[in-house]
Amino acid sequence: MSNPALAPPPRRPPATDGRLGSIAQRIISGERLSIQDGLQLYETPDIWTVCSLADLVRRRMHGDKAYYNINRHINYSNICALACTFCSFYRKKGQQGAYQYSIDEIARDAAQAAGAGATEIHIVGGLHPWLPFSYYTEMLQAIRQASPRVHIKAFTAVEIVHLARISGRGRERYDGIKSVLEDLIHAGLGSLPGGGAEVFDERVHNAAFRGKIKAGTWLDVHRAAHELGLRSNATMLYGHIELPKERIHHMEILRRQQDAALGAWADRAGVARPDGSVVLSGPSELYSHGRLPDPATCSAGYFQTIIPLPFVPDASALSRLPGPSGLENLRTLAIARLMLDNFPHVKAFWIMQTLPMAQLMLQAGADDIDGTVVWYDITKVQSATTHQEASVWDLQRAIREAGFRPVERDTLYRPVIRDDHEWRVDK
Ligand code: SF4
Repeated sequence: MSNPALAPPPRRPPATDGRLGSIAQRIISGERLSIQDGLQLYETPDIWTVCSLADLVRRRMHGDKAYYNINRHINYSNICALACTFCSFYRKKGQQGAYQYSIDEIARDAAQAAGAGATEIHIVGGLHPWLPFSYYTEMLQAIRQASPRVHIKAFTAVEIVHLARISGRGRERYDGIKSVLEDLIHAGLGSLPGGGAEVFDERVHNAAFRGKIKAGTWLDVHRAAHELGLRSNATMLYGHIELPKERIHHMEILRRQQDAALGAWADRAGVARPDGSVVLSGPSELYSHGRLPDPATCSAGYFQTIIPLPFVPDASALSRLPGPSGLENLRTLAIARLMLDNFPHVKAFWIMQTLPMAQLMLQAGADDIDGTVVWYDITKVQSATTHQEASVWDLQRAIREAGFRPVERDTLYRPVIRDDHEWRVDK
C-alpha cells in the first residue's frame, strides 16, 4: 500500500479566497512573494489555503521527513540587567527565584545529557551584570572537556553583545562582536540559537523591549557568525503588541540577510538569481545542482531555521494581553514558510507551541519540532512546570500521527544513526 505522505503534492491547491489564486500560482512556480503578498496571507479568512500552500512547499523541500533531535537546554542564570516587558524569565539579583549555576554544575548536567544520548546542549541565560567573560569561555571549555562530541549551541545575539561589552570590546562594534565570537568558537561554541530577535521594528522595540539591542545589532551578530562559518537560527516573537505588517517586515529583513549569507554557496550551486535573491522553495526542476546547502560539505555560515515563537503572557509585564490564538499560531508558521523561501527549515517549537499544536504545524509548513529538551525555563506554557520533557517516543509518535517520517538530526541537520548507546551522523 502506498504511503499517503509520499504522494506528490497537488499542483494546484484549492483557493477558496479568489484573491489567493495569483499568490498560489507564484508559489507553485517558485517565485518570491512580495510584502504585499505576505499581508494578504494574513488578511485572508481562508487560512486553510495558506496552510496547504505552506505544506506544498514543505513537502517539496523535505518530502515526508520531519526532524527532531535529542538535546538538553541549560539556562545558566536568570539574573538579567534588563527588564523586557514580555519576559517572565528574568530576576534581579537577590530577588526570589533568582539563580546562577556554577561551571561545575553546568558541565555535570551537560555530561549527564551527553551520557543519555543528547547530541546538543542549548545554552542561554540573562545578561548577568557581574559574571566575567571568563565564566562563559570556561563554561564552554568545561562542557567540551567533559563531553567532547556534544554540539554546543549557545548565547543569543543580545548575550553576545553583552559579552562584547563586559570583555571591553565595545557594545556594538562589529569587530568587537566578531572577536568575542572567535573566542567562544575557540572555547567550543558550535552554533548560535536564534532567540532575541523579537520583532525588527522601531515602534515595537521602543514599546516592548527598550534597552535590548536593536534590529541592526542583532543582524550584525548573526552576520559576523555567518562570516566565521557558524550556522545560526532566527526567531520572531509574535502575538504581543506588534501588527501583521511588522511581522512581514521582520521576515523580509531576515530573507534579505539570508540572501547575502548564502550568496557564495548559491552562486556555486547555480541557485542564485540575477538580482542576488536565493529561493530554495520552488519546484525540484529548478535545482539541478541541489536545492539546500549540504551540511556535510558546505562551509558557509547561514540561517538554518526560522522559529516563530508565540508570546506567552504568563507573569510578564504584558500579562494583560491574551497571547496569540491557535489559528494565529498556525497561520504565522505557514506564512513564515512561504515568505522565508531561502530558509532551509521551519521549526514548530513544541515547548512553546505544545506538542499537539506542533503536530498540526507539521501539516502547515514545519519540518522540525525541536527536541527532547528536558529543561526549559525561558518561557513556559501556562501552568506547565519548567521541567518540560518529551521522550523520543513522544516526538516520533507525534510525527508519525501527522503523516511524516521521523528523522533524528544533529544540530546541523545531519541524520543521526543510533546503535544502542552509540550514535554517529550519516554524512
Ligand atoms: S528577554 Fe532576555 S534580555 Fe530581556 S529581560 Fe528577559 S532575559 Fe533579560
